[in-house]
Amino acid sequence: MKKTIALWAALTAVALLVTGCSAQQPGAEGPGAAPAPARTTAPAVEPPAGDEAPGAPGGTAAAYRKWGLKPFAAPPAPPAVKPVLRGAGGQVPVISEIPTTEKIVFITIDDGAEKDPEFVTMMKDLRVPVTMFLTDSAIRGDYAYFAPLVAQGHGLANHTLTHPDLRTLSQDAQRREICGQRTKLKDRYGTAPRLFRPPYGNWNEATRAAAAECGVDAIVLWRESMQIKNMQYQRGDRKLHPGDIVLAHFRGPSELKGRTMTEMTATMLRRIQEQGFTVARLEDYV
Ligand SMILES: [Zn+2]
Repeated sequence: MKKTIALWAALTAVALLVTGCSAQQPGAEGPGAAPAPARTTAPAVEPPAGDEAPGAPGGTAAAYRKWGLKPFAAPPAPPAVKPVLRGAGGQVPVISEIPTTEKIVFITIDDGAEKDPEFVTMMKDLRVPVTMFLTDSAIRGDYAYFAPLVAQGHGLANHTLTHPDLRTLSQDAQRREICGQRTKLKDRYGTAPRLFRPPYGNWNEATRAAAAECGVDAIVLWRESMQIKNMQYQRGDRKLHPGDIVLAHFRGPSELKGRTMTEMTATMLRRIQEQGFTVARLEDYV
């Protein structure tokens, strides 16, 4: 068993080196375009997620039917060693996908403007793990809305205080945006965010340095973004690939041409299912 895990870790390290380049946001500027080196020293093994955490889509068939969906296949057990880690010297990796050959994708939901109570019910029913990248200016009208989602075990992540284009800001100003939101989320929800997404996917080396100072373990970009009814793909083959990170937003009928947040989410889950993928928990891999 130990041998299997060691072999797996070695394979993962190789996979990270091989795929590191493609894990970069196209159009990203500066020396940040170089892949983060894989950490070669053995990291501590993460304890398994508790029963409360929706580490696997775990809702019943009846719960899925209620939302017009079929249950997802169970994703593989999370890796014993996370395939994405900080580089040597603490450099923060920038990722758009997770190196894996499994047919899994990761769902991320940004900003926090729409606060549809039905979405909380839906997530409770389906137990599909998502990671929420929240911006203070979008959520401060109703911080309490997100508390049950955090309690369900969904990931809480940083998306700045005010959603600026970070490339236009000094490193100090970027640090205030990132560290400031880290403090707010920790004070409000009792857990410090480890993952960070720059608004619009715009970042530079100063972002990376500021993120490191604010305790960020990875800058998370994306490969697909969910629109009203369709997925927008960065790759020309217009398909999901193993390990892709999918972006969605907390949006409601005014931004979705009359559709609700739960309708958008159900459509996104169908797009993932019809390509034979299931959903895994990003925090198990980063
Ligand atoms: Zn955003």
